[in-house]
Amino acid sequence: MDKVILIKYGELSTKKGNLNFFIKTLFNNLKNKLRDYDVLISKDRARMYIEFKDSELEDIKNIIDKTFGIHMYHIANIVDTDLETIKSSVLEIVKNEKFSTFKVETKRSDKTFEVHSQDMNHVLGGVILRNIPNIKVDVRNPELLVQVEIREKHSYIYLNSYKGIGGYPVGTQPRGMLMLSGGIDSPVAGYLAMKRGVKLDCVYFEAIPHTSLEARNKVVDLCRKLAEYTDNINLHVVNFTPIQEEIYKNCREDYCITIMRRMMYRIMEKLSKKYKGYAIVNGESIGQVASQTLTSMNVINSVTNMPVIRPVACLDKLEIMEIARKLGTYEISILPFEDCCTVFVPKHPVINPTIETSIEEENKFDYMSMIDEAVKTINTIKVKVEKNSEYSDLL
Ligand code: ATP
Ligand code: MG
Repeated sequence: MDKVILIKYGELSTKKGNLNFFIKTLFNNLKNKLRDYDVLISKDRARMYIEFKDSELEDIKNIIDKTFGIHMYHIANIVDTDLETIKSSVLEIVKNEKFSTFKVETKRSDKTFEVHSQDMNHVLGGVILRNIPNIKVDVRNPELLVQVEIREKHSYIYLNSYKGIGGYPVGTQPRGMLMLSGGIDSPVAGYLAMKRGVKLDCVYFEAIPHTSLEARNKVVDLCRKLAEYTDNINLHVVNFTPIQEEIYKNCREDYCITIMRRMMYRIMEKLSKKYKGYAIVNGESIGQVASQTLTSMNVINSVTNMPVIRPVACLDKLEIMEIARKLGTYEISILPFEDCCTVFVPKHPVINPTIETSIEEENKFDYMSMIDEAVKTINTIKVKVEKNSEYSDLL
C-alpha cells in the first residue's frame, strides 16, 4: 500500500479571503525546504500531500516539524476510494497493531460516496470486530484510533497523528528586521515573529576588537538555527565600534546604554529602508534590565516611527529559556562570549532616562555621519541551512 504524508493546515483555515495565498506560501516553503529530497508535493484547499521515500521519512518529518502553518500531519496509507478496497485495507493495516480497544473515525469529503461517515464507522468497526479476537469499541478513550478520510479519487487511512507547530507560513507577512545578539532572548523573539509569518533578516551589532570573532560565529550559529524554520537568512553585521567608542568618550556614563540603543534603533531604521523591512523585531523584555523599563523603552523608541515588535516583552526569563531550549538555541546562547552591550556596561545605568538629556548627550558628537557610515559598510552573511544540519550542528 502506498503511503503519503497528509498535512492539515492550522489557523490558515480561518483566513477565508487569503486562504489561497496562505496555502500557496506554505506549499512553496515546503517545496523549497524539501528540495534535496525525493518527494512529490501536491495540494488542495484542505490538505497537502507529500509522497516520499521511506529512507527519507525521518528527515522529512524533522523539516515538517519546523515549518509554520501546519496544524497536524499524518503518515497515511493511500487507497482507491472504493468501499471494498477501503474495508480490506483498514483490516490489513489494523491487523498489525496490538490493542484491546479501538474507534473508527471517518470523514467523508466526497459527498458522492455511497456510505455516510457515521455508517462507515459502523461498517469498518464491524469488519475489525469480526476479524480480530478479544477487542472492543471504546468511543471515549480508545487505545487505537483508526482515521479514514474519503476523498474523490483516493482515500486515506491512518493510525497516527503528529502535531505541527502551527502559526502562519513564513512569507505571508513582509520582512521584519531582527536585532540578533548572542543572548537568549533575541533568537526566541525571532522564532515567535516567524511564527506569525514574518520573513526575517537579522542584524548583529559587532564591536571588534572589544568583541571577538567567536562572538560573531555564535550569532551565525543562532541564525542558522532560526533558518531551519524558514530558509536561508541574511545576517547583516554592523561595525558598531566607532560609534560605541565615541559614546563612551563623549557621553555621561549612566546614559551610555540608552544612547547606544538609540543609535542601534536609528541604524535599524535605515537598514529597514535599505532591505525593505516593515518592522524592527527584538528580544527586549519589560523590566529585564535598566534599558528595558517602560521609561527607557519610551526614550529609546522615540528615535523611530517604525513599529518595534517585542515578542518576548511580557514573558518571564524562565519562559523565554524554555522556548530557547526547545529551539536548541539555549546551548549556543549561553556560550561565554562578550557582546557589544556587555563590554561597556556602566556601573549605574539610568533607569528613568529622559529624551531631553539623551539628545543633549548624543549631540556631543557627529553621530549622523557615523550612522551613515555604519550602514554603508555593512557586511552581509548568507546563513544557509544545510541538509541534515540539525545533526551536524550537534556533533
Ligand atoms: P538577549 O536579550 O537576546 O538575551 P542580551 O541580553 O545580550 O541578549 P539585551 O541587552 O537584553 O541583550 O538587549 C535587548 C535586545 O536588544 C536583544 O534581545 C537584541 O534583540 C538587541 N540587541 C542587544 N545587543 C545586540 C547586538 N549586539 N546586536 C544585535 N541586537 C542586539
Ligand atoms: Mg535580554
